[in-house]
Amino acid sequence: LVSRKKRPENTVVQLNGDKIGNGDPKLIAGPCSVESYEQVYSVAKAMKDQGLNLLRGGAYKPRTSPYDFQGLGQEGLEILKRVGDELDMVTISEIVSPKDVENALDYIDVIQVGARNMQNFELLKEVGAVDKPVLLKRGMSATMDEFIKAAEYIIANGNENIMLCERGIRTYENATRNTLDISAVPVLKQETHLPVMVDVTHSTGRRDLLLPTAKAAYAVGADAVMTEVHPDPAVALSDSAQQMNIPQFEEFLGEIREQGVFK
Ligand code: PEP
Ligand code: MN
Repeated sequence: LVSRKKRPENTVVQLNGDKIGNGDPKLIAGPCSVESYEQVYSVAKAMKDQGLNLLRGGAYKPRTSPYDFQGLGQEGLEILKRVGDELDMVTISEIVSPKDVENALDYIDVIQVGARNMQNFELLKEVGAVDKPVLLKRGMSATMDEFIKAAEYIIANGNENIMLCERGIRTYENATRNTLDISAVPVLKQETHLPVMVDVTHSTGRRDLLLPTAKAAYAVGADAVMTEVHPDPAVALSDSAQQMNIPQFEEFLGEIREQGVFK
């Protein structure tokens, strides 16, 4: 059902006033983790002042080490809802457990399925059965075919509002945190009718590579880029090395706008 052969025209996912997949590229930003109301608000306000409406932030954090910050959970969802309501923004957050999907519907606008859960088939079925857009990330060792079939689980359960996100794959290379598979964008655009985006933060793991990889993503036809922004990355509870601070983000955005990607 996600195949371009089944449906030649692009699926456009409507997020409040913003459309993803209509040929008008977008930028999704926000902190890696939701840490406090003030932290999320300051990033969201800086985005809103720049005319950006798509706010990400992790409430449930899938961390490699059980001793690392696991996210605020329910309190994080409540913070996102409050900031989203106050600034009229679309909120995007990862849900890691099928049992938390229903509750999340009251707090966030887009359910993210993370790389580590791309083949959590029970979670895919659950998000396939709800009336909320889903942002599905590519597993770090997933082939294109596995990624597309994961999306198929969602659409097969009735939910057509799916966005695919390339977020880097695991290779032998360690100059970057993952290897950004830039060709995934045109492959997915050809093979499916779904919107395709690129997460430049988790693919590179390097603040100095966010701008060039974002430009590359837009150049190959990505419908959106996702990146992480924190008021003070040095004290961030996750992904400290790769989040931009607010002035860096404004500079990043200025450079993207200079390319004429969007206004
Ligand atoms: C995230 O976007 O917060 C995240 C954890 O990314 P990924 O699932 O791609 O590692
Ligand atoms: Mn992160």
